[in-house]
Amino acid sequence: GLPVVAIVGRPNVGKSTIFNRLVGERIAIVEDKPGVTRDRLYAKGEWLDHNFHVIDTGGIEFGENDQILTQMRYQAELAIDEADVIIMITDGRIGVTDADLELARMLNRTGKPVVLAVNKLDNPDMRNEIYDFYQLGLGEPFPISGSHGLGLGDMLDEVVKHF
Ligand code: GDP
Ligand code: MG
Repeated sequence: GLPVVAIVGRPNVGKSTIFNRLVGERIAIVEDKPGVTRDRLYAKGEWLDHNFHVIDTGGIEFGENDQILTQMRYQAELAIDEADVIIMITDGRIGVTDADLELARMLNRTGKPVVLAVNKLDNPDMRNEIYDFYQLGLGEPFPISGSHGLGLGDMLDEVVKHF
């Protein structure tokens, strides 16, 4: 089948915004197991000559009382299980958080390639915000703006290198 790219990150960093950028309008909601609600968002994306599936792991919701970290762990496990390449999204306006560090540790323990994106850098003056994110140990952070559509090409060039 097609390579699978999973988008992970804590709530509100811009995962769904970037997912929508990558897949356009071709979004399919796939209902999964009952019990915990797992509404995974899958869709097809393409970049240059590459076709792939994208999963927005933020589409996986658990009970309202669950902690953010619990949700992120499930999302990361799903991504680790199913993805060929993982894109971790962070928020360049907030900087590195404890939840980012925890998620990065989980991802680092896997053999899967991870591309680190620092989102919400809406103009070139903000690119310096990436340097803080080297401490996540996931390599070069890519500055992007999901809402302005900036930096996504360079990020995707890195993603497709791992197919
Ligand atoms: P998710 O919870 O990770 O799926 O995040 P969303 O995609 O729902 O975005 C959360 C909030 O961040 C929304 O208000 C978005 O409009 C905003 N957002 C997403 N990407 C950007 C960006 O590149 N720049 C700015 N300034 N805001 C963004
Ligand atoms: Mg979302």
